[in-house]
Amino acid sequence: MNTLSAALLLSCGLAWSAEAPAQTPDNDPYASARASMVARIAAPTAEHPVTDSRVLDALRQVPRHLFVPKSLAPKAYSEEQLSIGKGQTISEPAIVAYMTQTLEPRPADKVLEVGTGSGYQAAVLSRLAKEVYTIEIVPALAKQAQSTLQGLGYDNVWVKAGDGYRGWPEKAPFDAIIVTCAPDHIPAGLVDQLQLNGRLLIPVGVDKGGKWKTQALVVVRKTDKGMVEEKRLNVHFGPMKGEATKRKSSR
Ligand code: SAH
Repeated sequence: MNTLSAALLLSCGLAWSAEAPAQTPDNDPYASARASMVARIAAPTAEHPVTDSRVLDALRQVPRHLFVPKSLAPKAYSEEQLSIGKGQTISEPAIVAYMTQTLEPRPADKVLEVGTGSGYQAAVLSRLAKEVYTIEIVPALAKQAQSTLQGLGYDNVWVKAGDGYRGWPEKAPFDAIIVTCAPDHIPAGLVDQLQLNGRLLIPVGVDKGGKWKTQALVVVRKTDKGMVEEKRLNVHFGPMKGEATKRKSSR
């Protein structure tokens, strides 16, 4: 068994209390910064305004500053990609919001995320779906994210260290799958793990070449008539590592 397949399976089983869902402390010094962030994301003048009130509420609840290194907390609510260590970054709030809205998470949904990073996107999704499973290829990041999520009481998120290229077969099928690192093709294993009417949201393409000349955010829907693929915005995510780099196409 290699290190990745032997990777630890971490579950966020502990909540602050059985009653209180994960919430921001009352004395939160960043409450107004977070409110401004949400207002900016929802403004009609935003590049891609997010209007789904459930998504905006989730962004209001999750303390983004606790998902970045302490020294970067003052920048947590600005539109910047911030370093979370191990050469990885947390996406800007506007892109997290846009992707969350596009994924259409519903209260009874089971969601998979590939690319846990800080755990922030998983925390946002956990407010909108029933269960969130998230996989991170860098074990130290998986461990840190699990500890942050557990400490804040997100008890419907499960973190696994490993390569997410083939999804999480034991927990499939999923109503929605979100990928926050970019392969140069759509991994067939992820499409297979979608429920009927399920949505896969994935940045595809690495710099140039391939089917997409630049990296684009793609939505794949599993319908009763087959897969429907729709290209959305151009984006800039770091590459999907591991098995994705060894394959040109998984089909
Ligand atoms: N969603 C994250 C940001 C993700 S950055 C957040 O909210 O903070 C992309 C992450 O994908 C990085 O942490 C990177 O290590 C991870 N990654 C890259 N390739 C991966 C793979 N094959 N499987 C799982 N995670 C991967």
